[in-house]
Amino acid sequence: MENENNFEVIIIGGSYAGLSAGLTLARSLRKVLIVDSGFPCNLPAKHTHNFITQEGQDPRQIAEEAKAEISKYDTVQFLYGLAMEGKKIEGGFEIKTQADEVFTCKKILFATGMMDLMPQIPGFEACWGKTILHCVYCDAYEVRNEKAGIMSNGYGAFVTSRVVDHWCKDLTIFTNGASTISSEQQEAIDRLDISVIEKKIAAIEHENGNLKSLKFEDGSSEKVSIIFTAVHAVPHCDIPMSLGCETLERGFLKIDQYQKTSVDGIYAAGDNTSSLRTVARAVGAGMTAGVYINKELIEDEYK
Ligand SMILES: Cc1cc2nc3c(=O)[nH]c(=O)nc-3n(C[C@H](O)[C@H](O)[C@H](O)COP(=O)(O)OP(=O)(O)OC[C@H]3O[C@@H](n4cnc5c(N)ncnc54)[C@H](O)[C@@H]3O)c2cc1C
Repeated sequence: MENENNFEVIIIGGSYAGLSAGLTLARSLRKVLIVDSGFPCNLPAKHTHNFITQEGQDPRQIAEEAKAEISKYDTVQFLYGLAMEGKKIEGGFEIKTQADEVFTCKKILFATGMMDLMPQIPGFEACWGKTILHCVYCDAYEVRNEKAGIMSNGYGAFVTSRVVDHWCKDLTIFTNGASTISSEQQEAIDRLDISVIEKKIAAIEHENGNLKSLKFEDGSSEKVSIIFTAVHAVPHCDIPMSLGCETLERGFLKIDQYQKTSVDGIYAAGDNTSSLRTVARAVGAGMTAGVYINKELIEDEYK
């Protein structure tokens, strides 16, 4: 496996988790390829919060600075592209890209994140990450004085309302159809003075992603400037599954405390392994993966 397309480690996904692992492996003198297709999940967001030293920073800027830092280590190469296939070969793995390039390595790290699927409500996608938000720890502080809504139903609406109410006191739940909130949960919601609107949502009215109001199927509308909601997310990359990596519920890759998946030589870090999706956690997990990949490579050398 001694050729220019052969690496000790291939990192698929060059965002926060992948870049963090890349830095650790670069500093461990490892020959690394970082393949990235350029679609981190927070692409629509203008600011990153709750990540120390970078408060309010443009998320792209954080990644660019990390790339610039890693580029100073000459054992790391970056490839802008999409990994399409992975294959187990003797002594490691083979990765094929959409451009039909083939690379081999001893260990792989999947730092490929999750893909958020937008509901089919006109205007939703334009507001996602700007005024339709999913994470209170990322954004609630900035919008604490806004007229806010929760787009959810049943138990999810109940739990989310209690959390969001901690920041936003002018709060309405939009169930987008008949409420499935239990009477006990509804009593708790009433005690917080949160109203529930059960009308079907026809569209999100906005200007350049700045939410103005929700328009309902009955023609009425309700002014609101922020919505908190959860969207369905799926793994951004299915190569780990095709290589036999086990998954947990909601598609997260099963890993141990060293970020190792259920398949020897394959590691995973970042959003693809955890529902607590934050930059700080992705960076920490990437660093952990880098450490244990290097450790395993050292141990392999003594076998
Ligand atoms: C709208 C929004 C706002 C957010 N705001 C905050 C915030 O303020 N603070 C905070 O801490 N967290 C925030 N988050 C969460 C944070 O963005 C994620 O936790 C973080 O991006 C996870 O990093 P990651 O490296 O695991 O995955 P991602 O950043 O999603 O990156 C995965 C990378 O893998 C690449 N990839 C996937 N498949 C392939 C393939 N087959 N080949 C090549 N490349 C591939 C993708 O293109 C992408 O670049 C936000 C999330 C969203 C959706």
